[in-house]
Amino acid sequence: MTAAPTTTDGVLVDRYGRVARDLRVSLTDRCNLRCTYCMPAEGLPWLAGPELLTDDEIVRLIRVAVHRLGVTEVRFTGGEPLIRPGLVGIVSAVAGLKPRPRISLTTNGLGLARLAPALRAVGLDRVNVSLDTLDRARFTELTRRDRLADVLAGLAGAAAAGLAPVKVNAVLMRGVNDDEAPALLRFALAHGYELRLIEQMPLDAQHGWDRAAMVTADEILAALRAEFDLSEDPAERGAAPAETWLVDDGPARVGVIGSVTRPFCGDCDRTRLTADGQVRTCLFANEEADLRGALRAGADDAELARRWRGAMWGKRAGHGIDEPAFLQPARPMSAIGG
Ligand code: SAM
Repeated sequence: MTAAPTTTDGVLVDRYGRVARDLRVSLTDRCNLRCTYCMPAEGLPWLAGPELLTDDEIVRLIRVAVHRLGVTEVRFTGGEPLIRPGLVGIVSAVAGLKPRPRISLTTNGLGLARLAPALRAVGLDRVNVSLDTLDRARFTELTRRDRLADVLAGLAGAAAAGLAPVKVNAVLMRGVNDDEAPALLRFALAHGYELRLIEQMPLDAQHGWDRAAMVTADEILAALRAEFDLSEDPAERGAAPAETWLVDDGPARVGVIGSVTRPFCGDCDRTRLTADGQVRTCLFANEEADLRGALRAGADDAELARRWRGAMWGKRAGHGIDEPAFLQPARPMSAIGG
């Protein structure tokens, strides 16, 4: 096996030649919804305050990623990133980096109507809002909170603030919301949002995922095709997780993220930083590299970059969900950063 790179600068490359340019940063493991497929009603044992990276530590690690490791995209996620008090300051500091990375946010949309103008003003480029159903009773059951109206207001606020594109992410689940794919697409088309329909992955805190019950990308496409004409999207897919189609000849598009049945690991360009400062090379990784410990022990930027590159070198070829030895990672999605 080739040895891991030892230089402190240069892109994040793994032994298969994949280069990570897209950094997902989790700002908190906490959330103000309790989606049944993500976490239990009572929540989870949250990270303690001192375990969390401070705002300055987060910005420093992102600076290392951008200045030394070739990262060009930074996406904030969680838990729920909008509940991090320092979010606007963090986005502002990252927007000041040179070269300036593109900055996006994945959110449940609660509070976005209020925060979108400030986030846009300091440099947020675009947003993905998670919304699995348009039915209020169903939303309340699924998220255990009666907040559909706030999410819809958040979406409208994001568009009004000039964040573009505004994407809507929906996970489809059998017997829960699998009848809603066409309605979600109609909604997205009517508002100028871009819909992404997502296969459910084995990342729930309750370990209740069941492959047989999962709604597959093929089923999602069949449901959409019952109402819409989907044609091949001429745009390059690149490293995007979503396969996209033109809807009724375009220009509107819809995307399907078939992480389980149509894995895209060979083109993956992501690296992840958890809210407690651990680098993960994959949602499904069982290994983490502790940058917080190194940073707090006095490591300089060159040493942090070296550790990050070493972690990247160990990235596995694929997520392995279909392998008999697959083990769901100990951290649930909410603590990794979806
Ligand atoms: N709170 C933010 C939000 O709601 O978008 C960010 C974090 S949340 C974990 C990110 C995304 O992961 C959401 O769209 C959520 O629906 C999705 N998600 C959570 N558990 C999932 C699973 N098991 N499989 C696929 N997607 C999942």
